[in-house]
Amino acid sequence: MADTARLAINLATIREQCGLAEAIPLCARMGIRAVAPWRDQIAATGLRETRRLLRDWGLEVSSVCRGGMFPAAERTERRQRIDDNRRAIEEAATLGAPCLVLVCGGLPPGSKDLEGARHMVEDGIAEILEDAASAGVRLGIEPLHPMYTADRSVIVTLAQALDICDGLGSRAPVGVVLDVYHLWWDPDLPRQIERAGSRILGFHLCDWLVPTRDLLLDRGMMGDGVIDIPRIRGLVEAQDYRGWQEVEIFSARDWWRRPPEEVLRICIERHARHC
Ligand code: ZN
Repeated sequence: MADTARLAINLATIREQCGLAEAIPLCARMGIRAVAPWRDQIAATGLRETRRLLRDWGLEVSSVCRGGMFPAAERTERRQRIDDNRRAIEEAATLGAPCLVLVCGGLPPGSKDLEGARHMVEDGIAEILEDAASAGVRLGIEPLHPMYTADRSVIVTLAQALDICDGLGSRAPVGVVLDVYHLWWDPDLPRQIERAGSRILGFHLCDWLVPTRDLLLDRGMMGDGVIDIPRIRGLVEAQDYRGWQEVEIFSARDWWRRPPEEVLRICIERHARHC
């Protein structure tokens, strides 16, 4: 059984229905103890107001989404992205988030240089390590499903993410965020979760629908798809991970069209029964 006290809600899950001023009180009233806001949501509400809402409603922040997006064709643009990651680290620190999720970025437009883009990711993370360390925020590399390689993340397996961590040294404030949607298919997953050990900084939940009608915005509610979530949770907990279990669903055709109270109620039920 999933530990219901560890349930967190990634606020992308109800992003189309409500902003943070509505979502934070709603989550708190429904007994949820932690949320993960996205930076565009924080910007729309204001950083200080977001912090006030979280404090007033007694919610913790499981993570802030997201930093990353390092590869770019021009050096000046790569620098701008580094600067933007520094702002993201500050925002995460202001909100007391233990972790900034990194979606590392895809190929620069027009480029076919996958290896080069991967080096840009490694260089980008290395550039912001000190900022993260002094802010007390850890950087969580989230490998994405390989279908996003071109446009969202050239880091597509847990093994790759851990290779980057290894390259940065054991003292670097960096780890990995495991999302069942991105990793469930990987035959090497059990071995890599064991390898990750104490470097697991986050655990994201949703389900893989068959058929998937949209590459980005058709994630399923836990229990509606084909991912053996309890098995993956077991592997993660075998590494002594006791952090948040964060529900993160992008669903333009279904869950974003339902009342947020209903979505959260079903998240709570499904987390207890199917995770
Ligand atoms: Zn995720």
